[in-house]
Amino acid sequence: MKLISILGSTGSIGTQTLDIVREHPDKFQIVGLAAGSNINLLAEQIREFQPQIVAIENEAKLSPLKDAIANVEKQPILLAGKDAICEVASYGDAQSVVTGIVGCAGLLPTIAAIKARKDIALANKETLIAAAPVVLPLIKEYGVKLLPADSEHSAIFQCLQGIPEKALRKIILTASGGSFRDLPVEKLATVTVKDALKHPNWSMGQKITIDSATLMNKGLEVIEAHYLFGVDYENIEIVIHPQSIIHSLIELQDTSVLAQLGWADMRLPLLYALSYPDRIATNWETLDLVKVGNLTFREPDHQKYPCMQLAYAAGKAGGCLPAVLNAANEQAVALFLQEKITFLDIPRLIESVCDRFHGKNTTKPNLEDILDADQWARKEVEELQDKFQID
Ligand code: NAD
Ligand code: MG
Repeated sequence: MKLISILGSTGSIGTQTLDIVREHPDKFQIVGLAAGSNINLLAEQIREFQPQIVAIENEAKLSPLKDAIANVEKQPILLAGKDAICEVASYGDAQSVVTGIVGCAGLLPTIAAIKARKDIALANKETLIAAAPVVLPLIKEYGVKLLPADSEHSAIFQCLQGIPEKALRKIILTASGGSFRDLPVEKLATVTVKDALKHPNWSMGQKITIDSATLMNKGLEVIEAHYLFGVDYENIEIVIHPQSIIHSLIELQDTSVLAQLGWADMRLPLLYALSYPDRIATNWETLDLVKVGNLTFREPDHQKYPCMQLAYAAGKAGGCLPAVLNAANEQAVALFLQEKITFLDIPRLIESVCDRFHGKNTTKPNLEDILDADQWARKEVEELQDKFQID
């Protein structure tokens, strides 16, 4: 029996992790749940999974949450606020913490979990991208595992099993191409939030769906792959693969290429991050290559999607620049979702913020440097946003 806690339990990653727990009650048990503000779903989850501890980030929702679970027999410890999320992350006997919070808000809870010697099933990529110079040494110091739950990184991790350390030459990340992959570049100027939220292959939270449409998600994944697998940026490639069947590939020194395949279903990478190194039998639909028919590939269009290059540049610069890129992106995406800026303003805003950071970077940032850089970038977006604001 593996004891797990879930941060962001009401989101896409959180609910899919709970689907796994529901299917395998003999293998997984929930210790703690944390979420932002969806108390109705959280109350349902408390009834079903009987966690020992629960936190809601939005403090105003604590009292209605208490009311909603008043008749639950086994009452969990109920907490609210930012620190409460860290409390859940570090609580009790949980062996593994699934990080399904969106954005850099996941950073401090992830650090709390590591310090409490929990393995991390990493969905919340923004945390690693912003703070790898702090998070990676902590993983080592506390002797815990950092297991990728992002589908591409899980694919790479699966391919790497049994591969000698120096044999890896290159990583090839596949990308679906997002909502606008078949739209001519001229049409991008006028796309709406509703259009951008229609992902062709995956059903995910809003922020990552917009990141997929700008291809910033793939750019962030390049940085994530660099930090997880120690491969130079020159050896991390992106290829557009519209079917999302090959979840990523590795090339070895002898030119052999290995891939991991499956339907576009996040449960598999989540399950592997929780069962590693074991493989748990499931009754999920198996891949049918004949039904798939064609696997196609094309080069990513860097003119159409400047976010990829912005991410490569920030990754290569290192230090706090990935944190700045990430924070600027989070803010720009939020403004786009509020219909305050256009789709094409997203990369423009991020580029301006990253440019303004030049000269301020440090090579070996500590946590404070990273949090400062994150806050700085968010303020810059606020200041710049008027220039971009839609009338
Ligand atoms: P989502 O928006 O569906 O869910 C986010 C969850 O985090 C919700 O439970 C929300 O209540 C909670 N949350 C948000 N802000 C919070 C805060 N400040 N404190 C506490 N809880 C907070 O997002 P998602 O699609 O599940 O994505 C979560 C993370 O996983 C992201 O980092 C994303 O990049 C990554 N990821 C998601 C998928 C996917 O298929 N959804 C795939 C790969 C990676
Ligand atoms: Mg991914």
